[in-house]
Amino acid sequence: MAFAVYDAKQTLDAYLRHFQLSHAKFRDKGGPNRERAANFHLDDIEVFFFSINSAQKGRYLATSGREGLHHIAFEVDDIWAAVEDLKARGAKLKPCDDCGQVEPHGYSDGWCVFLDEATVPGLRVELMQTYTREEREAREREQANEGRASQQGSGACRKGAKP
Ligand SMILES: [Zn+2]
Repeated sequence: MAFAVYDAKQTLDAYLRHFQLSHAKFRDKGGPNRERAANFHLDDIEVFFFSINSAQKGRYLATSGREGLHHIAFEVDDIWAAVEDLKARGAKLKPCDDCGQVEPHGYSDGWCVFLDEATVPGLRVELMQTYTREEREAREREQANEGRASQQGSGACRKGAKP
């Protein structure tokens, strides 16, 4: 469950002050598209906070006017098979808010795809497949090369489909 908040660090600190949480983490990736995020787990459910510092998150706040639930994500082992399965049952995909790609594509920690509101009303629903170690290393090399080519960075989404 992913929540848009003004400041992920402050939010996590507040939870840590009031509740006994294990494995709580905060990260700040730095850079122009820096992602400040925090998380903890409630049993098998990850509670994830991200700071509203990107265009997408800014839009969320502009339309909702408050911090709150941004989307839920189901982690899957094979996102392409999961998408085929969902499509076979009539599900429709929606363009990524950040980059406009409709099919599964790389994001910061894995492959992601979003379901259309007509398929799952009321919430943004994402499928996510965490990168393998090799995919993560390839992404880090790619980002390092992009960083040398341009100080602008390229956002969290990357082009391209199934590796
Ligand atoms: Zn995207």
